[in-house]
Amino acid sequence: MSSNNDSITDNVDPKEIAKFSAMAEQWWDLEGDFKPLHLLNPTRLAYIEQGVEGLFGKTVVDVGCGGGILAESMAKQGAKVIAIDMAEASLQIARLHALETQTSLDYQKTTAEAFAALHKDQFDLVTCMEMLEHVPDPAAIIQACCDMVKSGGSVYFSTINKTFKAYIMMILGAEYVLKWVPKGTHEYEKFIRPSQLLAAIDKTTLTCEDLCGVEFNVLAGEFIITRNVDVNYMLRCQKR
Ligand code: SAH
Repeated sequence: MSSNNDSITDNVDPKEIAKFSAMAEQWWDLEGDFKPLHLLNPTRLAYIEQGVEGLFGKTVVDVGCGGGILAESMAKQGAKVIAIDMAEASLQIARLHALETQTSLDYQKTTAEAFAALHKDQFDLVTCMEMLEHVPDPAAIIQACCDMVKSGGSVYFSTINKTFKAYIMMILGAEYVLKWVPKGTHEYEKFIRPSQLLAAIDKTTLTCEDLCGVEFNVLAGEFIITRNVDVNYMLRCQKR
């Protein structure tokens, strides 16, 4: 992974932000474009809760929060959540939804790098899920997530592996055959191998504590945590 952007504002792909803004009204439609994220959410929430031994009272930043599927669910568990994204349309939907569900959390339009520059070593937990594969320079996001978290705190990432199977499942399958998500949601070139992600993590003061695969179990109709990182995977890090 490169870290070649000259200015932190370069690390936002306007095409990606426009794409998510155009889909923003769908964020809370359980049968809509973000159905896979809704199906995935209980599994990743449980993984995070288990890793941090409960979310109640924890200070959290959710980076690339979208419509707040994960952010809101963490706030509901009692975490004090700040959720950031660069798509204003998504943030507006997220704020409205939090009002409807009477959940208290703080949505802000900012980049990970700008937020980290103002909030060093402050949070118990940082989550950055399904976002790294949408930015020009994932390594800079990883560094920013590391900067925000306190020493001893946790950072979680999830993304998509760069394998032929991931191409078949995430692009051909999910976009063209099942039509679970719109065509163009993902680009194969931006998928990230675990080895690349771990190499970027190694350049920070984060240590990877756990790496797991996430697979959809068709019979159960839910995502389960597995040892197979061929397609979707998550990892938990701790700051030294
Ligand atoms: N993390 C959420 C949403 C994932 S979709 C979840 O898993 O439920 C990816 C999100 O990343 C979109 O909301 C998009 O607007 C956001 N994003 C993409 N590039 C970004 C950037 N450079 N800075 C902040 N957010 C970004």
